[in-house]
Amino acid sequence: MPPKSITDLTLVKELLDTVGGEDAITVVKLCEKKRKMTTDEELSKKMKKKVTEVRAILNKLHFRGIACYQKARNQKTGWYNYTWEIKKDRIAEIIEEQQKENLEKLNNKMKLEADYSLFDCTKCNHREVFEVAAEYNFICPTCGGNMTSANDPNRQKELLTKIKNIEKELTLLNKMK
Ligand SMILES: [Zn+2]
Repeated sequence: MPPKSITDLTLVKELLDTVGGEDAITVVKLCEKKRKMTTDEELSKKMKKKVTEVRAILNKLHFRGIACYQKARNQKTGWYNYTWEIKKDRIAEIIEEQQKENLEKLNNKMKLEADYSLFDCTKCNHREVFEVAAEYNFICPTCGGNMTSANDPNRQKELLTKIKNIEKELTLLNKMK
């Protein structure tokens, strides 16, 4: 089933959690649901959180350009009202930037592990190519632990799955922004 909200995507969840804390996802969900500008008071009521707490989250999101606000003076009270909007395209932009680098790293890792016979120390993760590891009789030159092949087909599969999942989410995100 295709995701209904961008907050269903793991990459979006992770980003919002890092930027605004665990409640940031709820803020974005509520704003997304309303489809128009939402005041921080409304959010505070719906989330059963103090307005100051909601504002703190919104400010963190604002700092990264994910949330933006409009300020208007309430004619009756004379106070300022802040209405907030979530910028989905900005969320997509940040994630694309992040994942571009991450995908490159994962692809390189996969290629390297497929091209060379690599051996990892089971204790300290020290890595050597086959020739060097064989010279040491597959005993880690750093800590004396056993070295085993890193060319694990399961690991290759795992890396590929990771890459595919990220690519899939990026495509979805692009359609939903
Ligand atoms: Zn070691």
